[in-house]
Amino acid sequence: MPQTHQLDWQRPFQLQDLPTDGKQFHPNRDEAETEFKALRTEFVALQERLYAEDKQKLLIVLQAMDAGGKDGTIRNVLKGVNPQGVRVQSFKAPSKEELAHDFLWRIHKVVPTRGMIGVFNRSHYEDVLVVRVHNLVPESVWRPRYTQINQFEKLLHDSGTRVLKFYLHISAAEQKERFQARLDDPEKHWKFSLEDLEKRKFWPDYMAAYEEMLRECSTEWAPWYVIPANQKWYRNLAIMRTIVHTLRDMNPQFPEAEDNFDGVVIE
Ligand code: ATP
Ligand code: MG
Repeated sequence: MPQTHQLDWQRPFQLQDLPTDGKQFHPNRDEAETEFKALRTEFVALQERLYAEDKQKLLIVLQAMDAGGKDGTIRNVLKGVNPQGVRVQSFKAPSKEELAHDFLWRIHKVVPTRGMIGVFNRSHYEDVLVVRVHNLVPESVWRPRYTQINQFEKLLHDSGTRVLKFYLHISAAEQKERFQARLDDPEKHWKFSLEDLEKRKFWPDYMAAYEEMLRECSTEWAPWYVIPANQKWYRNLAIMRTIVHTLRDMNPQFPEAEDNFDGVVIE
């Protein structure tokens, strides 16, 4: 199995030492893209089985800084998959109603059901990231959330959901380039906001929050993968490898037909 970038939380680490650059893990972009497409074909076939089997569930969580590549990952990885079997869910700033509940309420409502793949574009982890960095609630509220999240994900796991969590790790320099490209191209302006620049000023605080989140919420039942994401082609490949590896391991099976078709003739 090639390098998966699964975080080994038992070893001390600093986020700044984890690579953002994927080139060192794959020498050749063309080959990476060929492998990616082959794996995507396998993914589509495995997804059909998962849906037909109607037993297990897969949850894919995507977290990243702005311009980190969540949208591009979703577009590339899910291409060709039967849309009926996938639900992509984006989490924006919570509504009044959502804020009136516990932070997991809006999340739990939309976790994947049997046979489904759920993709979270941002997630419950915002409640220990943006919420922490911008002091939206006191530490006495956000700190216990690490344990609460781990228990919640254990519940999902114990009820037949495989949970994969990807942090798309880009460098501050790469974010600058991507912001600049959005600024320079009127057709990309819709993806950009001045708020993104405000948040960029808090880069070190975000990195500290990500680092602690990775440390506290990497579990056997719901591992974090820290994906070098400066090169989109490597990011896509690394994520696809892990998804396909996981689905192979889940080994979904087409169910037996309910009826006996022996000797059936269609007139
Ligand atoms: P894009 O990358 O395309 O800009 P996005 O996910 O950044 O997509 P936006 O509408 O730009 O979408 O931003 C959503 C915002 O909602 C983010 O700034 C995120 O931090 C914020 N958000 C998400 N969950 C929470 C939360 N629980 N509390 C506060 N803010 C949140
Ligand atoms: Mg945004």
